[in-house]
Amino acid sequence: MLRETEERLRCPYCGEPISMLVDHSLDWQTYIEDCEVCCRPINVTVRIDADDRVRLDARRGDD
Ligand SMILES: [Zn+2]
Repeated sequence: MLRETEERLRCPYCGEPISMLVDHSLDWQTYIEDCEVCCRPINVTVRIDADDRVRLDARRGDD
């Protein structure tokens, strides 16, 4: 079953909040999300824990 939730994170470049859809069918995924405000690429790591809670980690792509 495909389940998606809208999650929020903070842009590591400009600090603006960003909302994104997270797919719960994968325990762990990484991808690049462009900030809606400053348009810079954010490396996003998404983990879904055993309680189906989403853990987001946002990093700058140029670290
Ligand atoms: Zn930004």
